Amino acid sequence: MIKAVLFFLLVMVAIGMVGNALFPGSVGRNLRKKLGMKGPTTCKDCGRYIIGSKGCDCKKGG
Ligand SMILES: [Zn+2]
Repeated sequence: MIKAVLFFLLVMVAIGMVGNALFPGSVGRNLRKKLGMKGPTTCKDCGRYIIGSKGCDCKKGG
């Protein structure tokens, strides 16, 4: 079982290294785009973090 875990980790590291060699920095950029490059968006009314694109829950009347 431990050997399987070690093998899995090695495969993951290898994939990461190959990905970095082929597309330097692009993976990180894509992740940042998905997370929002401008930083976390907060609601102007209640100050909570807005998750998604539909806005804060407080504007829905809930
Ligand atoms: Zn709000």
